[in-house]
Parts: sequence; structure tokens; C-alpha cells
Amino acid sequence: MKKSLFVFFTVFISSYASFSQQLKSPDQFLGYQLGDKYTAHYKIVNYFQQAALAMPKMMKLEQYGETNEGRPLLLAFVASEGNFAKLDEIRKNNLRLTGMLNDKPGDVNAPSIVWLSYNVHGNETSSSEVSMKTLYELLNPNNAQTKEWLKNTVVIIDPCLNPDGRDRYVNWFTQVVGKTADANTDAREHSEPWPGGRTNHYNFDLNRDWAWQTQIETKGRLKKYNEWMPQIHCDFHEQGINNPYYFAPAAEPFHEVITKWQRDFQYTIGKNHAKYFDANGWLYFTKEIFDLFYPAYGDTYPIYNGAIGMTYEQAGGPGGGAAALKSDGDTLTLKDRIAHHFTTSMSTVEIASLNNNRLVTEFKKFFDDAKNNGIGEYKTYVITETNAGKLKSLQSFFEANGIKYGTVSGASLKGYNYFSGKEEVFTTANNIAVSAYQPKSALIKVLFEPKSKLSDSVTYDITAWSIPYVYGVQAYAVKEKMVTGVYSRPIAKNDLTENAYGYLINYSSFEDAKLLSALLIAKIKVRFAEKDFTYNGKGFKKGTLIILKKGNEDKLDELMAASKKYEATLTSVSGGFMETGFDFGSEKVHFIKKPNVAMLTGKSVNPSSAGEVWHLFEQQLDYSITLINADEINGAALKNIDVLILPDGNYKFLTEKDAAAEVKTWVQQGGKIIAVEYAAELIAKADWGFKLKKSDEEEKKDDKKDDNSVYADVKRFENRERESITEYIPGSIYKVTLDDSHPLAFGYTSGYFTLKQNSDLYEFMKDGWNVGVIKKDNQVAGFVGSKLKDKIKDGTVIGVQQVGRGSIVYFADNPIFRSFWENGKLMFANAVFLVNQ
Ligand SMILES: [Zn+2]
Repeated sequence: MKKSLFVFFTVFISSYASFSQQLKSPDQFLGYQLGDKYTAHYKIVNYFQQAALAMPKMMKLEQYGETNEGRPLLLAFVASEGNFAKLDEIRKNNLRLTGMLNDKPGDVNAPSIVWLSYNVHGNETSSSEVSMKTLYELLNPNNAQTKEWLKNTVVIIDPCLNPDGRDRYVNWFTQVVGKTADANTDAREHSEPWPGGRTNHYNFDLNRDWAWQTQIETKGRLKKYNEWMPQIHCDFHEQGINNPYYFAPAAEPFHEVITKWQRDFQYTIGKNHAKYFDANGWLYFTKEIFDLFYPAYGDTYPIYNGAIGMTYEQAGGPGGGAAALKSDGDTLTLKDRIAHHFTTSMSTVEIASLNNNRLVTEFKKFFDDAKNNGIGEYKTYVITETNAGKLKSLQSFFEANGIKYGTVSGASLKGYNYFSGKEEVFTTANNIAVSAYQPKSALIKVLFEPKSKLSDSVTYDITAWSIPYVYGVQAYAVKEKMVTGVYSRPIAKNDLTENAYGYLINYSSFEDAKLLSALLIAKIKVRFAEKDFTYNGKGFKKGTLIILKKGNEDKLDELMAASKKYEATLTSVSGGFMETGFDFGSEKVHFIKKPNVAMLTGKSVNPSSAGEVWHLFEQQLDYSITLINADEINGAALKNIDVLILPDGNYKFLTEKDAAAEVKTWVQQGGKIIAVEYAAELIAKADWGFKLKKSDEEEKKDDKKDDNSVYADVKRFENRERESITEYIPGSIYKVTLDDSHPLAFGYTSGYFTLKQNSDLYEFMKDGWNVGVIKKDNQVAGFVGSKLKDKIKDGTVIGVQQVGRGSIVYFADNPIFRSFWENGKLMFANAVFLVNQ
């Protein structure tokens, strides 16, 4: 399918080239007025192609990737003829200003670079329509104004960041809309089916993925972004139909690394937009809702990379259809939406051009400050972790973000220990060290600071993401500047002998879980020991993978190849007799049966949570998974299934007696359920033996003794947002104490940190395993509402319950959130492959 799509593009373009070299407006090219209907992604691509052919001295088109469904990801580069001729030199000079290229000093007498990103949320659909109009007006020979702006401005246009999501919406909408769009918002065309077009193929929100780069679209785009490093980045969105338009300046909280210049210029831009909106009588708002804190947005990530990053939100979105009756009685049309986004697009280029010198000079200053002063109180981050698998994923994370790293040597260093939360003296020989003195200093500070400072606690997203917790790596934040040398990851060395009886593989990271997955797919027979053991004087941890020669005789080449691919170390043994621990024939050495895995999906399931599991299996573990609609689950559907995953969701069958009984019978006969977040809560409510914990306050609620407490419920209206956050936990990090003797926790030698986004805590199970427990005072970072602070302690967040011959694994928190929470992935894999074997 992917190939044929490309052949189609090529044929179309070459035949087109033969009969037209004249730039066409979107209306001329499409054969309808922009806004009359939605344009499919391939037609947008074709429009950009024809423009590139017609205006080869001002524009070029580059493909930076391909989506999961095979659609091309494109960037258009637009400049004056003079600048276009030296475009790559402009790019290099710009990188010199940042210090990311050091062959010679950068020149501030250079054009500024404006990057316009359209349609990251696929169902916020007006923006890709606008991208064609923006491109046309920048190129249009009759538009003298844009020609003036292009003298000192290079514009990069990404017409659609999320083509799969956009086409999902557009294809659906085109099928359900009548001859004319229905403005009645009760009409079916205003209510998009699950999972909606907002996200990409794997239901990922690409506007939460910038720093993490877990998705193919983001990976390709960020590579280009880091080659260009624009001064201005705009991310075009849509919001509810009754919220007219939002543009910069943004709302508090602003992260403290954001400079005065970056704040001030948001006002300059906002004022320019306001001028045009006022002239047209259009409504808008600024300084509310959209804050600048979480680092993986299309506004914050550019800001932490020295740009003026902004979100623009037009009324519309999936509920807007192509016409929608608003609460004030007016009808919002697709044409209105296009007009507004087009206005801010043009106004952005204009204001960049008017402030060209200042923009480039301040941009250079941002990076000079980063390189010379190092942003933040900590100047070196030393990661003393030795786990090769974790270090491998950490290195690729740094490289994807242009973060330079090395190594430091030293005895008796002093730093903040992320795991203990204390300043400590430490010694290190092998480490990865990241210095704050480099171009990416602001981003590094945001990613590494132990506790982020919130200037205002009403934020749009999670409030903690510090890298040592995300990756589960022992690390220290050091206040001194240190010299970093070249780091090279230790290469795995196999310890093999002739005539091996079997092979041992250390199991301690998600990389090892990927290897296990590959071995199972290759039908290699794998076992693991449930206790530590010693062989030939060498100690091996519980969970170590054991591959005997017997039964795997014809698979040894595959074993070697897979181990090499995942950089695992193989140790051979010449017998099954262990010095300590269990011999390989013991029943405490478990054979891993390759499980058939299914996941519930569909309407009642949180699409992100389902997408994360789907992506984990297909793109990371490379392991097949059957997706079953939650409405259609019953005993028969589970006949050949060993593991059933319930992502966060509201499952009706758990509240229906007969359906629940069928699933419970399947578990009793040996099935395994992995329940995440609300799915776990529903099973607890269904009384399968796992109970939600009530807080002390909830238990005491009925006998209030304090006289003053009767006034506690009298609230001021203007404080309503603030009051609501006392019981709010937007995403905060807690230390979890693990029972590391349980297979669910195998491979975790340095504990676990959970990202808590709900207040769920379970009672300690008497008949089950409390594998992950939050004890007192174990919150390490992020915001937690004052009323919840006391509640989240002394309870279970990760549990395993035996039900007949089967089991249920409970995750109160999502261990693979947005796929960036790296340290939870091994535990999820353990739940699938190791628990109840
Ligand atoms: Zn959006």
C-alpha cells in the first residue's frame, strides 16, 4: 500500500508538470473555493508540489518522513529569490548563532526563520486548508507586501503534521455530511466516532510528544527542526466552537527559563494580531488557559530551544463540522476559521520581518547565555547508572534532542541524589555527564531539574518529568561546572565456552524485554529463575533468562543474532547444577510459554491508553497483539487468548453480571488480565477481591468536630479554579517501594517511580501481592492538590492477585504514559511475559 501511494504521487506530479508551470491559487487548483469543503491530504500535497514546480526560485519541498499509514510528511521552504539561492548557507549561519555548528562565528545580519506548523491535531482541520493559502500569498507575484517581508524572512511551512489523523477526520466527515453542512450541532457530522482524528495512527497526541519523540512523525520533524532552529514557531490548533480565538501572550505558568525577551515578544506578536482582529470586529482572548510549562508541546519545546513558540487556537475543532451554530446565535463556518488562521499566519510573518534584527540578535543572546553561563543552579548532571539497556535508550534520547553529553571522573563529588532526595557525596568511575554549558542548556534544565518551580498551579498538563525518574537511572545534579570527556558505552562481551549446556542473559531493562520478545517469536525456549543464583562463582539475578541447548539446538544462530541486536551479554554454562539458588530442573525455574495477547479497544476505552499499548507491542516489542472491541468481549472471544489487557477505560461488561462472570471464569481457568487506571478501579468496584483505599478524611467526613470547618465549604466564586485544584493531581512523581522478589518487579534493582495522575490507592491485599507500595511522604516531584497530599500514602499502586489458576495485574497508574515513561515499560513487559508462568 505504501509503495503504490508513492507511485501515484510521482505519476500525478510528472504529468502535472508537463502542462502547467504557472502558480495557481488554491481555489484554481482545487476547483472549489477554499472552505467549501474539506481537502483530502493527498490534494494538499499535490497543491504544494505544483507550487514548488511553478516557483522553483522561491520555494522547495522536502519530504522528512512517512506516516504509519504511508502518507508523506513535508516541509515547504519559502524565501526571496536572493535568499533562496543561499538557503543552506542561511541555515548553517543560523546554527552557528546557536553554537550547534562551530566551524566559524555566526553573523547576526541574517534573515529570521519563521516556522508555521499546521494541523498537528488531525481533527482541527481548518489549518491545513490555511497552509495552502499562506503558501500561495507568500509566493504570489502580485502580493507586494509578502515580497517585502521575504526580504529578511525565511518561512518554513509544514502543511500537515498529522496526515493520518487529518484524513481520518476528513474521510469520515465527507461521508456523513449532506449536500450542505448542517449547522445544528446535534447533527451527526458534529460528533466524531472513536478514536477521532486528533491523534496519529497509534492514537498518540503529537502535541504531547515533542521532547520525547516516541512517534515516527515527531522523530522526522525534530530532526529537521534541529537542523534549522527557527526564531519563531507557531502551532495552529482549534478549540471549542464558542471560544473565538486564542493567540499569544500565553497564560501562566511560564517556566522560569523563559526569558524576558521571549515573554515580551509574545506581547508584540499578540498586539499585531489584535490590530487585525479589531479591524474586522473578531473576538479573541489572550493570557488564559494555554500555559508554557510541559516541555513536549509545539510552543514550549521551541521556546526551550530559543524560539518564540506559540499556540494559536481557532474556534472549530471536530465539533465545528463545516458550519456550526454558536451559543450567541451566529454560525461559525469553515471559511471564517480559515480567514482567522490565515490572518495570524500573515501577521506572524509580518511582525518577524519588522523585527528581524532584534529577533536574530536576541536569539544569539539566548544561546550565548546558555553556552557561557549554563542555565539553572545545577551545572552538571551526572548519571552513574550502569545498566547498559537504560543507557542506550538515554543516549538516543539525548541525541534526538541535540543534547551533548560526555563523562566526568572524580572521587568525592557532591550533588543532589535524585533517588534519595538529598545532597550527598558520591564517587563515580563510569557515568554519562551532561553539562549545562551548551546550546541546549535551557532544555536540559527543564528536563533535569529535580523539582520544577510552578509560578501558578493551574496548569494544562503534568507537572513533573525529571529524566532520572522517567528512565529510572541513578543520577546526581551537581552545582559545579565540570569538564566532560568523551563517553563510550561499554560494549557487551559474551563469555562463551565450547559445548555449552545453556546460556544466561541478564534481564534488567526494557531492551532485555525486547530481546525476550524476539526469542519467543523465534520459538526459542526460555526459562527464568525466581531467585538469585551462583554459577562458577558468578552471581546472577532473579529474572535472568536461561536458554538451554536441549530443545533449542537448531535455534542457536538466531539466539546469537538477537542477543547482538539488543546488545545483551551471553554467558554459557556447562551444566545445570548451581552453587547457590535453584538448579535448572527445579520447579522454581519457570518455562515461559509464549502468550497470545489481546487488548480491549473501542468506544469506552481511553484512546491514548489503548494506543500506548498497541504501539508498545507493534513498534517496540515487535510482538503481535489482537485488538478486540470492548463491546464484543465474551468467553468465546477469549478462547485462544492468554493475556487480556484492559487499558484505562469504562468497561460495561465489568458491571454486567453475566459478561463479567464469563471473563472471570476465563481468568480462573488460567487467563491473565492486566488492568490499567480506571479499569483497575472498576475491577475493585466489582469486588473481585481488590479494594480501593479511602482516605482518613473521607472516613471521618461525617463527624466534623472543628467548629470552623463548617465554613470550609463557603467558597468565593472568583476562586473557583483555585478551589478545584485542591483535589487535583495533574501528574506528579511518587517513589514506589517494590517487592522485588515478585516476577512483576524483576529487573528493577534501583526501585521505581510512578507518574501519578489520579488519587487511586488500593488497600493492602491479604490474598495477593502488593508489588508496588507508596509509603509515607514519598512524593518526589510535581504538583498535588492540598487535599490529596495526605491521602496518597500507605497503599498499593501495583498489585497482583491470583484468581483460580489465573491472575490479575493491577496498575493504579499508567506505567507507559505517552510512551515516554521509559522505566515502566519493563514492568509492563513483565506483566505480559513473566507473571503467572
Ligand atoms: Zn489542538
